[in-house]
Amino acid sequence: MEKHSKIYIAGHRGMVGSAIYRRLSSLGYQQLITRTSAELDLRDGAAVAQFFAQEKPEYVFLAAAKVGGILANNTYRAEFLYDNLMIQNHVIHQAYLHKVKKLLFLGSSCIYPKLAPQPLKEEYLLTGPLEETNEPYAIAKIAGIKLCDAYRSQFGCNFISAMPTNLYGPNDNYDLQKSHVIPALLRKFHEAKVSGSPTVEVWGTGTPLREFLHVDDLAEACLFLMENYSEAGQVNVGIGEDLSIKALAGLIAQIVGFQGDIHFDTSKPDGTPRKLMDVSKIHAMGWKHRISLEEGLKKVYADMQEKW
Ligand code: GDP
Repeated sequence: MEKHSKIYIAGHRGMVGSAIYRRLSSLGYQQLITRTSAELDLRDGAAVAQFFAQEKPEYVFLAAAKVGGILANNTYRAEFLYDNLMIQNHVIHQAYLHKVKKLLFLGSSCIYPKLAPQPLKEEYLLTGPLEETNEPYAIAKIAGIKLCDAYRSQFGCNFISAMPTNLYGPNDNYDLQKSHVIPALLRKFHEAKVSGSPTVEVWGTGTPLREFLHVDDLAEACLFLMENYSEAGQVNVGIGEDLSIKALAGLIAQIVGFQGDIHFDTSKPDGTPRKLMDVSKIHAMGWKHRISLEEGLKKVYADMQEKW
């Protein structure tokens, strides 16, 4: 990518797309193309075709997707499958028709089988059944990886895929019904502290293990892969370490300064028992995360307090 290349960031208002946008603009890339979902509905194939014909981007970061936490994934199952398939099919196909030089597709660690050995290596894809709560989202993301690989092998397109672990950072969703665990817990512990409430409800048993990556680190990894990776097969992006939801709740309580009790609501689902990424592939290429979980959480909580 050159500083004057035309770069389309699909999903630039989302947590991932906005982080990629911030990074590209801070590095001096001058021709960043964006559309809000109101301006361009990526589920509308004719609209996406018209957009590509008009803008002719040279590079595409495909960070547009319908996303959410465990409850949203499980509730809006049809939308998570349909919307994501439509969005990625349209963008990937138009990128092929308009000879985009390189496209990066973003997925998630939930593409791996529920009971795959840990840490999750790239080669474990499609070796077993998926986790039930987010199967529709995972099926869409697996189709996206395979679509990029198929366009590479049949048409010679330079389309690559990156699979981040659970993410957090600026522009996250704080709606308690739809969010992921980090924004949910920051909000719940903060509100309990402010209101003097003695207990915070944490979903599930607290035993699932999760790995978390700050989205600014992911944005850096995406640019790194755009410059350094041009092969079929997805690349995991993570920190290579995880912790239990119970330990995460304890850490967030400490950062927020909540001193009450934590109650585990076992009527809520746990999801996958563990999904730790094997990050040796991207480490071998020369990329490693910079932001530790504690540092990242402190930063996000400080930003959150400024806005609330
Ligand atoms: P997942 O990684 O796809 O399961 O996504 P989430 O971030 O939504 O959930 C991660 C884990 O945190 C699951 O075991 C949840 O049950 C647990 N968890 C605990 N409290 C909450 C909460 O308030 N919201 C969410 N979304 N998850 C929570």
